[in-house]
Amino acid sequence: MVNAIYTWGIARALGGTVLLRIEDHDRERSRPEYEREILADLAWLGLQPREHGGTSSACARQSDRESVYAEALARLQRRGLVYACACSRKEIGQLTGETAGELCYPGTCRDRGLPCEAGSGLRLRVDAGLERFDDGLLGAQVQEPASQSGDLLIRDRVGQWTYQFAVTVDDTDQQIDLVIRGEDLLASTGRQIRLARLLGRTRPPVYVHHPLLYASTGVKLSKSNRDTGIRELRARGLSPNDVLGLAASRAGLMERPCPVSSEKLAGLFAAR
Ligand SMILES: [Zn+2]
Repeated sequence: MVNAIYTWGIARALGGTVLLRIEDHDRERSRPEYEREILADLAWLGLQPREHGGTSSACARQSDRESVYAEALARLQRRGLVYACACSRKEIGQLTGETAGELCYPGTCRDRGLPCEAGSGLRLRVDAGLERFDDGLLGAQVQEPASQSGDLLIRDRVGQWTYQFAVTVDDTDQQIDLVIRGEDLLASTGRQIRLARLLGRTRPPVYVHHPLLYASTGVKLSKSNRDTGIRELRARGLSPNDVLGLAASRAGLMERPCPVSSEKLAGLFAAR
């Protein structure tokens, strides 16, 4: 919800177009009903994406893009940048002493020369070096992918493309020039810029990372990928404009909640 406010508001303020991409690279967690719910909620709010490709049935769906990912992988392999990794997440945790959150892969299999076969993960060699970018809200950022994530997992041991790889290939392939997303993904950006460059992209997208809303318990209130709160508010009789105003005020974009139409979202950002 908050992500939708930022995405449509900023895109409209800049005269951009919001593209729809169904990020169902994780086949175990993707559900067609989630997708229908999100699209129905957005439509109710008056937030319509322009579907990539122009026709109404053609949206970019990661599960349809197997050949695009395979081709991107082949390009990296031809440059000798990919190797097979047999480590499980648990083993990496034991090696690094970390049990939760982000694990920095220590490069265990980098020089083992394992065959790229079923049951092995595939990793990208991430050499040392800084990545600098200007975040649209947070300002200048410096990240060092090699010490944050280590060699990046491209495809896991089950054969699924990872989030980091799939979105970077998509952003490059679809020539996305503005990415608006929650601050929880800020740490991913340096490695995505690095990967995009290795895929041949000369100019990375502009990134805007917005604050997320947390309840007092520290639980994230608004996930960018699924938000059932809209349904509850709608059932309580709130109009789309009421809900947009409520979300904008929770996001700190309005002093107190008052109704705002989807067409007026740009006004929340125009003065910034
Ligand atoms: Zn390994």
